Amino acid sequence: MRSVEEHRRIVADLVAARPARTVKLAEAEGLVLADDVVAPLSLPMFDNSAMDGYAVLASDLPADTGLAKPVKLPVAQDIPAGRTDRLILAPSTAHRIMTGAPLPEGATAVVPVELTDAGVDVVEIRRTAEPGQHIRRAGEDVTAGTTVLRAGQVISPAVVGLAAALGLGELRVIPPLRVLVMSTGSELIKPGTELLPGQIYESNAVMLAAAVREAGGDVVATPTSDDDVDAFRAALEPHLIDTDLIITSGGVSAGAYEVVKDAFGKDGGDGVTGVQFVKVAMQPGMPQGAGLVRGVPIVTLPGNPVSSLVSFEVFVRPALRKAMSMPYPDRPRRTAVLTEDLTSPGGKRQFRRGVYFPGIRGEIGTVTTYGPPASHHLRWLASANCLLEVDEATTELAAGQHVQVWDLRGVEK
Ligand code: AMP
Ligand code: MG
Repeated sequence: MRSVEEHRRIVADLVAARPARTVKLAEAEGLVLADDVVAPLSLPMFDNSAMDGYAVLASDLPADTGLAKPVKLPVAQDIPAGRTDRLILAPSTAHRIMTGAPLPEGATAVVPVELTDAGVDVVEIRRTAEPGQHIRRAGEDVTAGTTVLRAGQVISPAVVGLAAALGLGELRVIPPLRVLVMSTGSELIKPGTELLPGQIYESNAVMLAAAVREAGGDVVATPTSDDDVDAFRAALEPHLIDTDLIITSGGVSAGAYEVVKDAFGKDGGDGVTGVQFVKVAMQPGMPQGAGLVRGVPIVTLPGNPVSSLVSFEVFVRPALRKAMSMPYPDRPRRTAVLTEDLTSPGGKRQFRRGVYFPGIRGEIGTVTTYGPPASHHLRWLASANCLLEVDEATTELAAGQHVQVWDLRGVEK
């Protein structure tokens, strides 16, 4: 049997990055920057007002300016944000100015409107001003020529905002991998259709597609096929040109009608071979496969829904994120105190569904298993927040022992 580590490495080595691409800002959020970004201009670009108020010469407001001794200045200009002509402030005058509007040449301070009578022709100012107050200086945020974003950074809403403020309409990114999610099984019926006895609703395709998207990938399509090899090949064929990774579910175990195995196994022939089917020493998710279909990486996951998603977590998600240069390719691992006694099969890595309670104030958290180990109990996985990992050598665990959990809560820390 192949170890979990070895299969993780084999899958990771299969999946490769796509070349960097330029995308419009609106499409960049969540992707990874391919290049450093050097600021083409300074922010702010010009001295401007930080308040709605009056641009003045601070020296026109003596230190004893106050309610009892206000200073009256004629208002020579009105400067709303967006005014583009160059203005000069003459001594002993004021310009009414709005937040973000360019400061007139000569002004040394802005007096907030709240400290005045808000006059339009003449303004009465009731407080002295410190030179420089309420002025945003050109370049105080960003100096042109500075590297403000680094390759490898995830493009957050704030990154998009900064790029736009710098006048950049596009960014160079590492494009998401295009993933085909195929599920197989003659018993599978699309939700919304009446079931005949023996049929079940298809759930892996939509589940794995959601997992791909959550990992940062793009889903090309989610075709389903019955357990007929020709039908399976026909469903796969049209996608081989625009797919970076194929994930299949089902049809890889030891029974008859194992369509994925049959399509790519020894007698699969016709140039689609190159997929290796193995048993991985883990529970759930023992039957696995990986390889290339006409140069396109393929990972074949088992069909039991829990096996499928756990295998995705263990093998596919880290490979996908690493290939896309995403930070934290692995789920955060946490040490937790087990709240119950447990058994685990020897020689296999076990992943139990669990509920992890983080510790407060730096204390170690706890974990309780959630649901049975069986690989078809999707209900428990749906409300679990972690995978409890029990190593191959351990067959018994006692309450109070420290264990490792994979934190599925989506907080990458
Ligand atoms: P298989 O790996 O194809 O032998 O399937 C193992 C179990 O998982 C069977 O009970 C299947 O009915 C079930 N299964 C396989 N694929 C899916 C799917 N896409 N949606 C729901 N259940 C599935
Ligand atoms: Mg099947």
